[in-house]
Amino acid sequence: MRIILLYLLAFSIIPNIAESIEITRGKPLQGGLLVIKVDNDSKLTVNGKTIPVSLNGKAIVGFHRDEKEPLHLIETLRDGSKKKLILKPKLRVYQEQRINGLPKNMVTPPEKVLKRIREDRKQVAKARSYLTSINGFEKVFSWPIKGIITGTYGTKRILNGKPRAPHYGIDIAAPMGTPVRAPQAGIIRMAKNLYFTGLTIILDHGHGLSSTFLHLSGTKIQVGQKVKKNQIIGNVGSTGRSTGPHLDWRINLLKKRLDPHLIAGTMPNK
Ligand SMILES: [Zn+2]
Repeated sequence: MRIILLYLLAFSIIPNIAESIEITRGKPLQGGLLVIKVDNDSKLTVNGKTIPVSLNGKAIVGFHRDEKEPLHLIETLRDGSKKKLILKPKLRVYQEQRINGLPKNMVTPPEKVLKRIREDRKQVAKARSYLTSINGFEKVFSWPIKGIITGTYGTKRILNGKPRAPHYGIDIAAPMGTPVRAPQAGIIRMAKNLYFTGLTIILDHGHGLSSTFLHLSGTKIQVGQKVKKNQIIGNVGSTGRSTGPHLDWRINLLKKRLDPHLIAGTMPNK
């Protein structure tokens, strides 16, 4: 009996001498996205929750602006053995930005539009909630437009002297009507005029990763349409809460806000 127990114990210990899971792109820091490579028939959990793995064994994890706790990844292979990885996010320091002269109803919205704002939020949350199996999420992103960066991810905002939610996008100033191109392939989940963000497009890149494009002046694409990388999806505008023509580009991993600058890299000159 004792021998059998020792035998079982020995064999239950062996799979726990875990190898590490492979990271193919990205670094663990606030606002960052990491592409993970596992066996294509493995199961992958992050803090106990299963996340999707593509047919070629790719998965993604990310860190929100203020996320401080490590992510514990466990890959369970087909034979039951496990690999592990602990990702501790590097903390960042964010800038502060003051914007004055915004119309009063855009800083503190009037009572009668609160219902519309709530409805907008619900629809945006839904458009970012898809776990589609398309594979834009694991590929290299490009910039949707080129221009002057006037606002960065994570910045603390004070609008007309009132502290407001941090800025989660990257603002790129460009002439009115400049074509906005898909930074990576995906499916359009929203193309709609919203109270704060004006004409807004949400593009689903798969596995919960999405791009949002704000303040557009026009679009010809439709919800449900598949778009290729670099395809024109809309035009730069100044709709919604905006002080001039620019694109505000955001990236979400479900509810987590990621930094587009970390995902697309440095903006090329030409
Ligand atoms: Zn912005």
